[in-house]
Amino acid sequence: MTIYNTLIIGGGSSGILSAIHLNDDKSILLEKNSTLGKKILFTGGGRCNITNNHGIDNYVKSFYNGGNFYRTAFSNFFNKDIIKMLESNGCKTKVEENERVFPVSNKASSVQETLIKIVDNSKTKVKLNTNVKKIKKENDLFTVECNNSETFKSRYLILSTGGNAYPKTGSNGDGYKFAKDLGHTITKQMSGLAPVKIEEKWINNLQGIDIKVKLEIKADKKSVAKDTGSIIFTHNGISGPVILNNSMEINKHLQKKQNVIINLDMCEEYSYEKLDKQLQEDFSKNSNKTIKTYLHKYLPKRMSSEFLNYLNIDSTKILNQINKKERVKIRDNLKRLTLTVLEVLEKDAFVTNSGVKRKEIDPNTFESKIVDNLFIVGELVEGCGISGGYNLQQAYSTGALAAKSIRERLS
Ligand SMILES: Cc1cc2nc3c(=O)[nH]c(=O)nc-3n(C[C@H](O)[C@H](O)[C@H](O)COP(=O)(O)OP(=O)(O)OC[C@H]3O[C@@H](n4cnc5c(N)ncnc54)[C@H](O)[C@@H]3O)c2cc1C
Repeated sequence: MTIYNTLIIGGGSSGILSAIHLNDDKSILLEKNSTLGKKILFTGGGRCNITNNHGIDNYVKSFYNGGNFYRTAFSNFFNKDIIKMLESNGCKTKVEENERVFPVSNKASSVQETLIKIVDNSKTKVKLNTNVKKIKKENDLFTVECNNSETFKSRYLILSTGGNAYPKTGSNGDGYKFAKDLGHTITKQMSGLAPVKIEEKWINNLQGIDIKVKLEIKADKKSVAKDTGSIIFTHNGISGPVILNNSMEINKHLQKKQNVIINLDMCEEYSYEKLDKQLQEDFSKNSNKTIKTYLHKYLPKRMSSEFLNYLNIDSTKILNQINKKERVKIRDNLKRLTLTVLEVLEKDAFVTNSGVKRKEIDPNTFESKIVDNLFIVGELVEGCGISGGYNLQQAYSTGALAAKSIRERLS
């Protein structure tokens, strides 16, 4: 039986980067799906937010449970490196708001296809449709048993099976079992970056609308978080970067059985006074504009009539027919639209925050401190980053560092 140098279990972003950096014909990547990087296709709303152009200091602040753990990994292979790798293989990139990097094509498939091309051009072998069932370590060798009763053996093993978010992409939590069987601790299941379900039903009609807001989260009437960014209305609540990034905080309070509300300020650039003055001025003008059309000044087009319905104001009224009570209602709700959170939708989470306990992994190599020659990378490691390209970068960086550590020992 062939004894491989390294078996890489899982061909997502982290496993792919490990394979590329190993570049070794005695190493093989095993992936259960019929293609590598299936999850990449779902990232960034189908556009793939490849990475973030901020510096390392910003990165380490962008991970829950402390991002310093990834400093060595980021120093070894960072945003500029993945961009260079993709661009030199034909996938051009662009930088958008908040330093988010996307492919110029706006298609996640360009990123996936380019990464597949790079692995295919490397010496590392790839075996698809191979579902790993069991991993053991005996006599300094790893033995991996697969669905098709195939068995593989190796000296080194990289576990890159991801967490259990979006299980339809293949990442269904198998890695937790493998790591546990090998002696590791898995932290309490907790998802990160999840949308929330909202009690107020009228917002369900706003599905698909996105809007920039300043938000305040209150738990039992006490302010617990403030943030600014985009939200997107969904069929049963709200999502978008600023909601995803605060979902763990919201969940913390819901789990304590507290009442959680989110106040949205949809006119951040206006103070209450300034907005009131502006509305008074505009309403008093002899304009034949309807209030519905006028509100496009502050709200996305599709939102204004739903907003007015919610406030019980006839959306066909012309501006100078709006009375003071109605004007105040409009002002107050533009500045503070209150939504009640029913639930954090963990089943729809984008990443898993739990995983293999970090204390059991050496951050300088990503080798297990419990099992020699076992490396644990990507989302399988405890603690996720905020939305913005940080999680994919964590996967590339940890995958690359594990491969580098193994290569140094092989040479
Ligand atoms: C909808 C969505 C949108 C996202 N958008 C972004 C974004 O725009 N930017 C960003 O930075 N992050 C984003 N993320 C997060 C990002 O996708 C993950 O952090 C990243 O994919 C983790 O990479 P990974 O290699 O650790 O795991 P994964 O990408 O999950 O890959 C794990 C691989 O292991 C395979 N595998 C699992 N078990 C086995 C087994 N038993 N045998 C063989 N193979 C196995 C799986 O099939 C899978 O291919 C998003 C996530 C989701 C769900």
